[in-house]
Amino acid sequence: MRILVVEDEIGLAEAIGAILKKEHYEVDISNDGQSGLENALTDVYDCIVLDIMLPKMNGLDVLTYLRIKKIETPVLLLTAKSEIDDKIKGLDCGADDYLTKPFSIGELLARIRAMTRRKGIIADINPKYGDITLDIKRGELICNGNSVVLGRKEFQMMEMLISNAGQIITKELFVKKIWGYDDDTEYNNVEVYISFLRKKLTMLHSNVQIKTRRSIGYCLDGAK
Ligand code: CA
Repeated sequence: MRILVVEDEIGLAEAIGAILKKEHYEVDISNDGQSGLENALTDVYDCIVLDIMLPKMNGLDVLTYLRIKKIETPVLLLTAKSEIDDKIKGLDCGADDYLTKPFSIGELLARIRAMTRRKGIIADINPKYGDITLDIKRGELICNGNSVVLGRKEFQMMEMLISNAGQIITKELFVKKIWGYDDDTEYNNVEVYISFLRKKLTMLHSNVQIKTRRSIGYCLDGAK
């Protein structure tokens, strides 16, 4: 899962980013409305946390423009207490939910989970395939009672593989969702991380394998 945070209070933006990373999300931060809009238009995000009062372009205008451009990414608006009218306007503009500042971390995470779940992006339960289970909370891969910790990118790749089991995931899609931009080096990174994941599957004595589909991408195999 990749989340865009558009927030001009640098300290708050960085704190939100750090928390989301700890929860195994990939995070990009924009500190004004214009760069937030440019990022959001790439349509690589699973969720956008969007402040309303922003320099260069306010959050409601960003949101309106995104919906006109048919970008349907779930948007969580951040509002100050004094901006009650903006909440209503925001929901009219196509926001999925809003959160009033100051908010608790738990509340932010719960709203993000609820929004992405509604959109069918992730299930709340731990994804399973064959003899492996991905523990979302701990960031671990589990097999037959043994577990191994996955790095953030490894975790995201495994999550994509399991939730799209039976389908080939192209290197392009991994790069787009996990690295967020297109570059030759990143394609090599995909191969490196796939090899890390294969080693971990072997360590766990799992029957599951990551198969390479030549020049296209990868898919899981080994479920009975
Ligand atoms: Ca602001």
